[in-house]
Amino acid sequence: VSTTHIRFKVYRSSGKQKKYDVYELKAESGMTVLDALLKIKEEQDGTLGVRYSCRWSVCGSCGMLINKIPRLACRTMVSEVENETVLRIEGWGPIAKPVFRKAKGEILLEPLPNLPVVKDLIVDWRPFFEKLKKVEPWLVGGEVQPDKERLMNNERSLELGVYANCILCAVCYGSCPVVERDREYLGPAALSQAWRFFNDPRHIEKKKILDLVDSQQGIWGCDGVYNCTEVCPKSVKPTQAIMALRRNAFKYKLMRR
Ligand code: SF4
Repeated sequence: VSTTHIRFKVYRSSGKQKKYDVYELKAESGMTVLDALLKIKEEQDGTLGVRYSCRWSVCGSCGMLINKIPRLACRTMVSEVENETVLRIEGWGPIAKPVFRKAKGEILLEPLPNLPVVKDLIVDWRPFFEKLKKVEPWLVGGEVQPDKERLMNNERSLELGVYANCILCAVCYGSCPVVERDREYLGPAALSQAWRFFNDPRHIEKKKILDLVDSQQGIWGCDGVYNCTEVCPKSVKPTQAIMALRRNAFKYKLMRR
C-alpha cells in the first residue's frame, strides 16, 4: 500500500472563534477525504466536528467545500484533490472574477456555504429542508383504484429517475450564487424536486406546483450558471429542471389569456 504525506487545512469554528488548523497525515492509497478526517479525529484531534453516516454517497451527510468546490467527502479521493488546480468563478456578470487555487500536497476543507455553521465542518440544514417543504415534494395521485396499477412508460420513468436520485445532500445549494445573495431563494434541490413531481404523470396537482414556484424566489430567480448541475454527486440536473418549469409556467400563462 503506497502512502503520501498530506496536509489538511481545516476550517474550525466554535461560537465566535474562527480559524484554520493544519493536520498532517500519511494518506494511504484508496483513502477518501472522509476516511482522512475520521483518522485525524481518531488519532490527532477528537474535537474536530464532521458529520457523516453511510460513508457510501447515499445519506448525503458529508457535503463540504473541498478545495473551494462543494463535494461529498465520502466520494472524493484524497489522490484526486491533493494536487489539483481549481479555477472557480466568483460572482456573476460584471462582478465575476476568476479565483485560482493550487493545492500541492495540501487539501483545504471548509463547511458548505449558504448554511449557518454549527461547528467546524458541520452546517445547520434547517433552511435547506424548510425550502424543500415549501414545494410540497410528495405525490398527490388522486383516487386510488385498488384493482388497478398506475402504469408509467419506461421512458418517463427513466426521466423521473434522474430527479428521484437526489439524496438531499445540499451540495448544489452550497454552490448556488443566487442563494448566496437572496436567502429566500428556494434553491436548486427544492426546484428540481418540484419538477420531479410536476413531470410525474400520476401527480394531479400540477397547477399547484407551478403556483408554489412561479416567483423571483422560485424559478425566475435562477441565474442559469449551472454550478448546481456541475457539482451534483448524483447527476441530478437542477438547472434543466428549473428551465423546464419555466417553460411550463409560461405555457400555462399563455393558455389562460
Ligand atoms: Fe445533492 Fe444533487 Fe440533490 Fe442537490 S440535486 S441535493 S447536489 S443530490
